[in-house]
Amino acid sequence: MVDSVGQGLQVKENIKFIPSLSEQRHKFVLDFVRKHKPQKVADLGCANCKLLWRLKYHESIEVLAGLDIDENILTRNIYRLHTGAGDYLDPRERPLTITLYHGSVVEKDPCLLGFDLITCIELIEHLEAKELAKFPEVIFGFFSPSMVIISTPNSEFNPLFSGKTLFRHPDHKFEWNRTQFQSWSLDAARHYGYSVEFTGLGEPPPGAEAVGFCTQIGVFVKNIPNTVESLNNEKTTECTHTTVGTVIYPSLKEEKYLRKAVSNEVFSQILKMKRVLVESLKMKNDSDSGDEPEFVKPKCDEFKSDSTEDTPKPFCIENVFYVPLERLFSFPKIKHLCGDLEMLKMLIADEVTLSSDGSSVMINIVNEEDGDLSDNDRDDLGFG
Ligand code: SAH
Repeated sequence: MVDSVGQGLQVKENIKFIPSLSEQRHKFVLDFVRKHKPQKVADLGCANCKLLWRLKYHESIEVLAGLDIDENILTRNIYRLHTGAGDYLDPRERPLTITLYHGSVVEKDPCLLGFDLITCIELIEHLEAKELAKFPEVIFGFFSPSMVIISTPNSEFNPLFSGKTLFRHPDHKFEWNRTQFQSWSLDAARHYGYSVEFTGLGEPPPGAEAVGFCTQIGVFVKNIPNTVESLNNEKTTECTHTTVGTVIYPSLKEEKYLRKAVSNEVFSQILKMKRVLVESLKMKNDSDSGDEPEFVKPKCDEFKSDSTEDTPKPFCIENVFYVPLERLFSFPKIKHLCGDLEMLKMLIADEVTLSSDGSSVMINIVNEEDGDLSDNDRDDLGFG
């Protein structure tokens, strides 16, 4: 059940937001995440999981949780969060685990402790009076994340819609004007040690500026940040939420994915160097009269690139092409992935043939026509 502001506007026609208000709210959260780089984020009332799906692309986030009271909507939408081939081909730098929980936002379940950011986008207006009364104590008092974003409709905007319904959505239990939302927020902030700032999304049309934004937003930041000790202060309560699903993403923190990423990069750089080599051999052979190709040490310039200039150059001895590890390590991506030369050696050791002194990758360059690695080379390199 998704907030119906967008729908309502389409039906009532007069006012249309582009992009839709729902997208603007998500963008607001994404911009906030980009700025504050939280590691653990929970979206309460996550409905169709679209915000979680957008959040999963943020590198800073290592733990994502979604909670909704509607189990059906979670089971129908968890597919959005599943891993795909791309996640394995280009793994994240940091780990990411996403968990969906079924339960109510006003239950003090320990699974939502220790979060940096909790978002409640168009959620509070769906709560019954009793639930709303418990909400601040649970969110700010118990879960007590460093930051909370709450968005809710601004009822002052409603007369601009031409429809006659009391609220914007049949499941809304109330809709507040700015004074109501701000005094509720300020009370909660004061009581639980947060500061709050107000903003909004969805500009009113010219002439109606006095009604304020269509969506009102409160951004809460904890006055005294959580410490390791405060997070470890165990709050003993029973788990009430049930887990609908957990998705673990591949990341370069796992050695098997790091090995693969380094090997792919090494392979790609060797391939480029080898193409240059084969081209230079072709040119040489074209101008030679002899039958047998003569493998020569390629000219330095052919392998030059800014970051590799000062490193040992690749060379040929007979039909073996040697690419010094130092050379490979000077490529920024390989350096970034491995950190040091020893690590590079360790990560590719099982994938390539190293020279006897362990300083270069060796590959065979016989029977080259087009500069691509032959199947044998791929086998040599372990990239079959
Ligand atoms: N956040 C979503 C839409 C929210 S609609 C978005 O940005 O698009 C409100 C959602 O809150 C619904 O999915 C509803 O099932 C859920 N909800 C209502 N009461 C709840 C409660 N007590 N605990 C958890 N979720 C609740």
